[in-house]
Amino acid sequence: MTVLSELSDLQNCQLCPRKCGVNRSVNVGFCRCSAGIRAARAALHHWEEPCISGSRGSGAIFFSGCTLCCCFCQNHAISHEYAGKDLSPRRLSDIFLRLQQEGAHNINLVTPTQYLPLILSALDLVRHRLQIPVVYNCGGYERKEVVLALKDYVDIWLPDLKYYDTDLSRRYSGAADYFAVASKAVLQMILQTGAPHFHIEEDCPSPLMDRGVIIRHLVLPGHKEDSLLLLHWMAESLPKGQYYISLLSQYTPICQSSQYPELNRRITSYEYQKVVDTALELGLDQGFLQQKNSAKEEYTPPFDLTGL
Ligand code: SF4
Ligand code: SF4
Repeated sequence: MTVLSELSDLQNCQLCPRKCGVNRSVNVGFCRCSAGIRAARAALHHWEEPCISGSRGSGAIFFSGCTLCCCFCQNHAISHEYAGKDLSPRRLSDIFLRLQQEGAHNINLVTPTQYLPLILSALDLVRHRLQIPVVYNCGGYERKEVVLALKDYVDIWLPDLKYYDTDLSRRYSGAADYFAVASKAVLQMILQTGAPHFHIEEDCPSPLMDRGVIIRHLVLPGHKEDSLLLLHWMAESLPKGQYYISLLSQYTPICQSSQYPELNRRITSYEYQKVVDTALELGLDQGFLQQKNSAKEEYTPPFDLTGL
């Protein structure tokens, strides 16, 4: 049995580090997803990093459910509440082609891990017709075996690296092993893609990525020290010049944040600037910063089944 076929067994789901072992046709595991694909939106998306969104947009498919279920998730309606519409792999493959035809610079799989075998079937159906890169946009909480198994499917990895501290990842995402898992996964992503590679298109103001890794980190209110520990780890442990970072300031409290009083505010300019300064001091200068006033809801598109 190959690693991929082992991981594809939804009768005994081991797709993510939770390894729930449930039969997804009958029960649900931590992610609350059944055995079929569900998504809440498939459309051109303009709010990713400039090398992903370009001028025409990224072809983003927002999948329902999530293997992390962070308490501060801006996509709460789909990640926690599983809102969306069921899709067959055939239908998903048609959506990939339609997004390509609409001018998408890439196919952006947003939070896909819980449906991986079915998404790979959809990609196989259009293997010779899809000419744009495939982006894997995830929370970073991935089994290294899964990353390895996606070598021939994924061109660009867009993982989060959320927490260094075990207590934080347990409290906010129910995953005490987050850093232990995500640090290995991110390194494997970088080893697989090699140094970031870009191309220029006439109508685009900035180069477009066609291969590589962008590590995203969202600075959380009151937790800049954890951000600094992550930056130090990146500088010491990841191959220099082989990846980009994207430091996000867009944290916005949601109603669920009231259960976590320390998260019930936006980050301050000082917190974000301290993280940015440290990244630059450590030589982590390949990447993207966000305007501090970017904490706006436009980053969350309407999950109204558009494009499905
Ligand atoms: S994908 Fe869902 S059911 Fe499968 S192991 Fe992960 S959380 Fe559990
Ligand atoms: S990993 Fe991302 S999509 Fe999933 S719950 Fe956390 S913030 Fe939301």
